[in-house]
Parts: sequence; structure tokens; C-alpha cells
Amino acid sequence: MNTPTQPTASITRELELPPPTCVLVRYGELALKGGNRRDFESALGRNMRAALRQISNARIDRLQGRYLVTPETRVAEAARRLQDVFGIKSVSPAWSVASDPETIVTQARAVVADALARRPGTREVTFRVSTRRADKRFPLSSIDFDRLVADRIIPTEPRLRVQLVRPELNLGIDVRDEKTFVFIDRLPGPGGLPVGTLGRALCLLSGGIDSPVAAWMSMKRGLSMSYITYHSYPFIGDSAKLKVIELVRALARYQQHSRLYVVPFADIQTAIRDAAPEGYRTILYRRMMQRIATRVAERFGLSALVTGDSLGQVASQTLENIACISAAAGMNVLRPLIGFDKDETIELARKIGTFDISSKSEPDCCSLFMPSHPILRGKTEICDAVEARLDVEAQVARAVASVEIHDIESEV
Ligand code: ATP
Ligand code: MG
Repeated sequence: MNTPTQPTASITRELELPPPTCVLVRYGELALKGGNRRDFESALGRNMRAALRQISNARIDRLQGRYLVTPETRVAEAARRLQDVFGIKSVSPAWSVASDPETIVTQARAVVADALARRPGTREVTFRVSTRRADKRFPLSSIDFDRLVADRIIPTEPRLRVQLVRPELNLGIDVRDEKTFVFIDRLPGPGGLPVGTLGRALCLLSGGIDSPVAAWMSMKRGLSMSYITYHSYPFIGDSAKLKVIELVRALARYQQHSRLYVVPFADIQTAIRDAAPEGYRTILYRRMMQRIATRVAERFGLSALVTGDSLGQVASQTLENIACISAAAGMNVLRPLIGFDKDETIELARKIGTFDISSKSEPDCCSLFMPSHPILRGKTEICDAVEARLDVEAQVARAVASVEIHDIESEV
């Protein structure tokens, strides 16, 4: 076994650097939004606050072109949570020091020494300094300060070799009026636009892999999301509903408060089974889902529907069948996965943390009375003719009246 010797332990202690004190937040597309910029920035601030609500007393300040988050403790965890906030391009846990060249150099040296200590051995480490100077009163230009800091650090750190393009250690120095932020890590955010800035939508969420990814992609483009799921109790057990609740909770990482509408669907499915040609069942279920979703969305002030359809993926997702299904919706239906291959969706599902939940095998309402030969090129006229034999309006009204509402909070 490798027991550290006394000298190594004391060197480690000497090099120990207190953890970063704040997080520098960079945002992306906001700058492109001209007149709306202020709204976007304040939405981003609100969403950051929501994402940090479990981190005690995190202060959020707006700097020119950046946000600065200063939590009392748990800076690394704050940075990790901010990596899930749409609109954020990257975050850097940073050390804040007075904007005085000598103080900055001292901190920079400690930060670099710590970064090297985390890379044991003697191998060469490529390095550069990247100064950004928002305060033009600072006595040195960015380039001159890059040089000065490098000249002061390199002689004492023989492992460093300057490399301007793609260095392993890129020491960032962001000089502001009174404070300067020193950092190395630039952790990616999800990009996109702050949730809520583009409107509110309702995602038809099954327990499958696709619809949670569709919800995530829509949130990424600035939509705040509510969810609706259709549940054929007692044919399908409560565990299917619990699975969807678990999915909403996982998605609440990206939008902390979310609402799920659970719609009883067994009566509607039974009526369709009894009235429709077998091959049309799935299309007709989906049409009813669209109608009910439209009604719920209208009632709760949501202005678009989102589904996880991907063209050609299953029988119900041919162009003709999607047209039949859309014809029943009373509002805009967004299908952000339309051009995705299944493996692309799976990769994203893993990344956003929904894949493992979606993969648990639970029957959902679509497996009920499943046709053995679903029709591939459905016709709207046939759908209309079958539905004329069902009391569509009464069924929709009954389903909407018995919607169960769950308000779900993020657990992380
Ligand atoms: P998913 O993985 O999202 O279930 P899928 O490729 O399996 O998608 P379908 O099951 O045919 O495709 O469903 C297409 C879309 O219809 C889903 O992505 C979802 O938006 C919606 N949907 C299907 N079943 C339900 C349900 N029980 N509750 C709510 N929405 C549903
Ligand atoms: Mg499915």
C-alpha cells in the first residue's frame, strides 16, 4: 500500500488553497436580443435564484455582461446547479481579490500551484494567462498583464510551458472596478434561452424516452413547461403514473417548479376500441390526447403543445398519421425531435438525466388494446367518421373535469 511520506503531506498542506469564493456566470444568446435584453437578463437572474434556492444566501450581482454569484458556502455545488440553467453558456468557480496588480499576481500564483498539485508527476503542463479588463482604469492592458503574470509565475513553476492555443491550464483573470476574479475552470452551461422568456407550453409526457427529451429541448429554447399524461387506470397500474411523476421531478432540475396534469384515459380507450377499426386505434387515442391537451392548455394559459414524435420512428409517426393527429389539436404543436435518430435522443436522454427512469419497463396506456397491424397512412376522413360515432365532446369534457393536478418541485 502507498502511504504518503511526511514531506509530501507537508508540501500538500503548504499548497492548500481555500476553495473558490464565487461563481462567474457567462450567458450566451441574450446579447443578441436587443430591446429584450433586460427582460432576458432578469429572467435569467430569477431562474438562477430558483436553481440556487437550497444554497444558503447566495448573492447574485449583475456585472457588465456577466452575473456574479456569491454563495456563503458550497460554491462548487452552486456552480454545478448553474450548469443546468438555460441561458448560461459557462460558469467559472473563481477567487475574488482586490483589483491591485500585486494582489492579483499572488492569488494567481496560488491558483496555478494548486492546479499543478492536482496533476501529480513531473510532466509538462501547457499554460496561458487570459486577462479580460472591464475596468479600463486598470494600469496595464490585458496583453501586458498576461505577460506580467506569466513572467511572475513561470520561473517558480518549471513544469509550465506557454501555449496560447488550447492550453491545459488557462488562467482567467477578469478585472472589474474594485474586484478581480481569478479562475481556471470553465464549466459548460446548457446554453439556450432562459426558461419562461418565450412563453408557456404543455408537453404530452408519456413514460417513454422521447417526450422528456422533447420537453428539455423546448425549455432550452425559452419555453416554460407544464406536463400532461394520460393514464388508463385500472387497466394500467399506478406505477406508470409514478414513473411519469419521477420524470417530471428529474426535469425539474431545469425548471424548479413544474405542474403535471394526469388525465384518466381508460374510458376513452375503451370507447375507441369498441368503435374503431383496429388499425386506427393508436391514431384515435392520440387525437383525443391532442384535444384534451388543447383544452387543458387553454384553461391554464399555455400556448403550445409539445410531443416527442420523431418522423418515421413508429407506425403512428408517419407524415400522414402525424397529419391526422395534428388535425385534432386546437393549437400549435411543437415536435422538437422530428429529425432525431433514436440513438441521438437516447444520448441526450442520458445527458439530461431522464434515460434511466424512462428505461424502467412499465406498461403505459399505449400498450392497451394495441392493434396488431396499425395503419401506416391514416386518413383524416376515416378518423372523423369513426369519431362521429363517439361522443367526442362529452368525453373530452369528462376527461378534463377529472384531471388530477400535481405540483412537483425539484429534489436537487
Ligand atoms: P415516447 O418515448 O415519448 O413515448 P414514442 O416514440 O414512444 O415517444 P409514442 O409512444 O407513439 O412515441 O408517442 C408519441 C408522443 O405522444 C409521445 O412522445 C408523447 O408526446 C405523446 N404520448 C404518447 N403516449 C402518451 C401518454 N400516455 N401520455 C402523454 N403523452 C403521450
Ligand atoms: Mg411511447
